[in-house]
Amino acid sequence: MRVVTHDEDQPYPDFETRADARHSAERLIKNLAKSRTAKHRDLAKKLDQCDSEDPCLSGACPRCLRTHRVRWIADICDLVLNEWRHA
Ligand SMILES: [Zn+2]
Repeated sequence: MRVVTHDEDQPYPDFETRADARHSAERLIKNLAKSRTAKHRDLAKKLDQCDSEDPCLSGACPRCLRTHRVRWIADICDLVLNEWRHA
């Protein structure tokens, strides 16, 4: 579940902030931890241990998803600036 604050003062109001990703992760972890399914509780533990020094890299992780999106945008910008410009 992706939550975006739509803060018009942000340069990219439709892109989740770090705080948005953290809040989404907290809510997801809380709900998964209450599950009767062991796999859900295991995922909650994995997401709960995720941090910038040791990312979990789960496709379910709002924090890792945001990081991936930011890096993807940076890679596209780098490609346009350094490769397409000279094509
Ligand atoms: Zn993660």
